[in-house]
Amino acid sequence: MHEVTLIPGDGIGPSIAEATVRIIEAAGVKIQWEKVEAGMAGIDKYKDPLPKHVIDSIARTRVALKGPLTTPVGSGFRSVNVALRKEFDLYANVRPAHTFEGVSSQHEDLDIVTVRENTEEFYAGIEHYIDPQRSAAETIGIVTRSGSARILRYAYEYARKYGRKKVTTVHKANILKYTGGLFLDVSREIASEYPEIESNDRIIDNMAMQMVMNPHQFDVIVTTNLFGDILSDLASGLVGGLGLAPGSNIGYNASIFEAVHGSAPDIAGKNLANPCALVLAGVMMLRQLNETAAADRIEKAVRAVIKAGTSVTRDLNPTSPVGTIEMTDAIIREMGA
Ligand code: NAD
Repeated sequence: MHEVTLIPGDGIGPSIAEATVRIIEAAGVKIQWEKVEAGMAGIDKYKDPLPKHVIDSIARTRVALKGPLTTPVGSGFRSVNVALRKEFDLYANVRPAHTFEGVSSQHEDLDIVTVRENTEEFYAGIEHYIDPQRSAAETIGIVTRSGSARILRYAYEYARKYGRKKVTTVHKANILKYTGGLFLDVSREIASEYPEIESNDRIIDNMAMQMVMNPHQFDVIVTTNLFGDILSDLASGLVGGLGLAPGSNIGYNASIFEAVHGSAPDIAGKNLANPCALVLAGVMMLRQLNETAAADRIEKAVRAVIKAGTSVTRDLNPTSPVGTIEMTDAIIREMGA
């Protein structure tokens, strides 16, 4: 029996979290879920977006499945997602983007993994207005040699473990000569330790264009926090959208699995959300828990339902009357088939 912290999240979070739990249970994996609330749900219940018992739960189970959490834009409380990554030093954000048969996309047979540094640079939360009139604002992005080395090493180790051929470092070292320059220098040092893996680097603006025009040249991408956030959304757009993009946040002592997408307030409470991104994050979690057979079975069923195209949500088929619950039912039926 595994113990996993379950944070259902905000907006569409509770419905896709319920779908994911149903599918994992239908695959026969025994998990004792410790359900806790954070984000807006935490404020409603405990007047705190990140209550201490949530942190205590993850510290104990060391594994969490998390629905998306709403972050107020511009003002209000800081991102709970970022706070959790900092609290548990979840330095590696791994976001695979793999094409699905049955989903129309610009490119076929894409299989790109973005490894994003998850704790440093502009997400470190070192920011302020310089005066009460808010005449200027500063955000300080810190890139360290040790932080760069561990994420770059993670990317190369990931490539080695999963038989990947190439790692591309993405940066803006031509303009950000210190932060970008340090990351690029360290990437060259680490690359030299992995001669069997092809290494190259791209400047972020060129990279964005290359990913749209000719994405097959990329395999594993490793980059700093902000660029990784944006490029992984771009990669998910190449393979069918946010509804299909999972992610994991990995540290030495804890891991949190989540969808790349947010709480989608525009479709919350309407049974419209595609559950697959969180379900596939659940698949990544099961692989970490060594539940490989169940993980493979769920992924196969998700792919089969998407390929058939009849029991998919509206984001995949605009005329579909199928909702979150019905798509979940179809995945469970497919696993039994
Ligand atoms: P979003 O990802 O929530 O939504 C962007 C668009 O994609 C919307 O049109 C939405 O309807 C659609 N979409 C997203 N997930 C979908 C799904 N599963 N099925 C079908 N359509 C889906 O991005 P946003 O609107 O910019 O952000 C909303 C909130 O989510 C913000 O508060 C933001 O801070 C938060 N957020 C949280 C996380 C996280 O928890 N890791 C990540 C990103 C954004």
